[in-house]
Amino acid sequence: MAQRLFKKVAFIGFGLIGSSLARVIAAQQLADQVVACTRSAQTLEDALALGLIQQGFSNPAEAVQGADLVVLALPVRATQQMLENIQSDLSEQTIITDVGSTKGNVVDAARAVYGDMLPAGFVPGHPIAGSEHTGVHAGKVDLFTGHKVILTPLVTSADWAVEKLTLLWQAAGAEVICMDVEKHDEVLAHTSHLPHLMAFNLVEQLANREDNLDIFRYAAGGFRDFSRIAASDSHMWHDIFFANKKAILKAVDGFEAQLSTLKTLIENENSQALMGLLGHAQAARQHFNHMLANKPLMENNKVTQQFTILPGAHTFKGEFSVPGDKSVSHRSIMFGAIAEGTTHVTGFLEGEDALATLQAFRDMGVSIEGPKNGEVTIHGVGMYGLKAPAGALYMGNSGTSMRLLSGMLSAQQFNSVMTGDASLSRRPMERIAKPLRLMGAQIQTTGERGTPPVSITGGQHLQGIHYDLPMASAQVKSGILLAGLWAEGEVSVTEPEPTRDHTERMLRAFGYEVKTEANRISLQGGGQLTATEIQVPSDISSAAFFMVGAAITEHSDITLQAVGINPTRTGVIEILKQMGADLTVENERMAGGEPIADIRIRGTRTLKGIHMPEDQVPLAIDEFPALFIAAACAEGQTILTGAAELRVKESDRIQVMADGLKTMGIDCTPTEDGIIIQGRGKSGDWSPIFTGGKIESHHDHRIAMSFSMAGLRASGEINILGTETVATSFPDFTQLTRRAGLAIQVSE
Ligand code: NAP
Repeated sequence: MAQRLFKKVAFIGFGLIGSSLARVIAAQQLADQVVACTRSAQTLEDALALGLIQQGFSNPAEAVQGADLVVLALPVRATQQMLENIQSDLSEQTIITDVGSTKGNVVDAARAVYGDMLPAGFVPGHPIAGSEHTGVHAGKVDLFTGHKVILTPLVTSADWAVEKLTLLWQAAGAEVICMDVEKHDEVLAHTSHLPHLMAFNLVEQLANREDNLDIFRYAAGGFRDFSRIAASDSHMWHDIFFANKKAILKAVDGFEAQLSTLKTLIENENSQALMGLLGHAQAARQHFNHMLANKPLMENNKVTQQFTILPGAHTFKGEFSVPGDKSVSHRSIMFGAIAEGTTHVTGFLEGEDALATLQAFRDMGVSIEGPKNGEVTIHGVGMYGLKAPAGALYMGNSGTSMRLLSGMLSAQQFNSVMTGDASLSRRPMERIAKPLRLMGAQIQTTGERGTPPVSITGGQHLQGIHYDLPMASAQVKSGILLAGLWAEGEVSVTEPEPTRDHTERMLRAFGYEVKTEANRISLQGGGQLTATEIQVPSDISSAAFFMVGAAITEHSDITLQAVGINPTRTGVIEILKQMGADLTVENERMAGGEPIADIRIRGTRTLKGIHMPEDQVPLAIDEFPALFIAAACAEGQTILTGAAELRVKESDRIQVMADGLKTMGIDCTPTEDGIIIQGRGKSGDWSPIFTGGKIESHHDHRIAMSFSMAGLRASGEINILGTETVATSFPDFTQLTRRAGLAIQVSE
């Protein structure tokens, strides 16, 4: 039970909203006494019979005597008259609130009664919940549960009044938001009043047709859903449309303009633009729902999922396409957007990060179809066709999007702001902002640590520069090169160690000349990109789990199709070959500037332990958790050195892997920059290596997938905790591994 908040609550008006709030007060005993005043005696009788009030009044002045809370729950137009009636019977400690759907006119009504010195207890409010039914019997105790209540405190409103009202509405299960009166009326004009107006209008339009009976008889679900709100109380809406006239008329103007755009597109059969508009609206709805739901990505994840892998005889066979490469998916959208012509993308990774990039370009006016089954069509707008987004661009969890877009946006004519989720908001952005400033960009990061939001002032003239990258970073390199597309002269970058070169390769695929001379990469500004076909290669990091699974399982035979074998990423192939795996790279070809191939791997021989070559470490950095599983199944010792970076990935991958391996009976020693693993394999012996056990993945997707593969050689059941993050990089991991023969189950 919540604490008792009030001595006496007086409702003036006791219909749907008033009686619902009274139901909450009664259910949770939030007040000693509740009374109501209405026009009709019947309402009061019913309220007494329902046990919602202890006393009913027809005279409001009597009702409010001694009340410490007065709730005006009646039509807004009656506010002024009512305040005049009760004014002299209220004390200085009385909280006066209302529930009206418009706020400006409620405040005007109060000013007409009190002048500018409004009572400290006066705090207007509006629950964003309701129904098309009215009256005391329509009320429900859970009407406000999970909904928002907007309070619009004034400068005269006392904190104690706002605090107490907040507690009351929270007890009703609502989320309380405070807002300016004007803002409230503007927001509501768009989100509630305009949709109601449109619903009344549509029903009226159809009802006036001669064939109206047929129209309503055959109306589809969409019409029913949309027109439901036209059944709302007509008096109330009549009042609201007048009460919020100014803001509603503005919203109607916006609606008319948008409608006429849509009409023109249909009239002119402008298929591309129409598709762009519909796609943008559809994606925007999903995008904003997602943003507002505050969906967890890597952190604050409340769902803890678990994989269970059952022991027993296993096969591991089949041909598979693992998900598309994330880095390439991002770039396909960015480059397709600024190219001349239409770019088709296949194999696009429909993960949250790449979708954030896609939405950003839609917000900048690019017409994009899809993604559907990994296919995306981008109608390029050319180098100078991006448009100012209406608001901030939300990059979700994607550092790649933010750093690459910093470069592109610095060169645009318009201002822009990029924001991200909580995790991205902690990541350093100065490393890209600094070189861009040297080029003439006006770019600002936030706080002492130079984190997002990133604000960019458009209309700058960028100059080519030469930049020595202080750290190996493909994202910073790419951001500079992308800004360089619009810069005067040459932009060049030298990198201390080779980093992923997806940007250079894809720019070339779009017909843009990029030079790579040793560790120096350069391009000339002022060119243009030509649309092309992009097949996003399968991600070698995802393929690695299948490679290891096949390498440790007798008679296995796995083919992974169209895997990206960019030389900056192929360390896992090299290392597995050195360990003696039966692995062949077949059907090598190029796609969208990237080398791809089918990789076949069979379980024909026992792997052997090796000292992993240090020159391969940067090229296999994400694949080590899987390779540790291979090492445990190998004959002899495997040593990894020079891989300290593994300790600062999504988890401390050295420690977390060592803990898990030990749990499953493997002798291993973590070191500062690597690990030593005593392999338990014996030549020609395919019996189980791991004991089974409970593994904590620390919500690290690669740890979870690696230990899943250990299940192919385990004598007992393996339980892997915290596997929900697997979906961010490999949404169909469990389906595909199950199809190959792994006995994997998912539970929450
Ligand atoms: P309701 O169910 O029709 O109840 C209205 C109550 O106000 C009735 O008790 C009625 O008395 C009384 N009343 C009507 N005109 C009056 C007048 N001129 N003087 C004194 N009392 C009067 O309406 P409701 O849905 O609760 O709406 C109340 C307020 O909530 C409105 O301001 C509305 O804007 C707001 N609101 C409604 C919704 C919704 O979905 N319905 C949502 C959010 C906010 P009798 O019982 O004697 O007729």
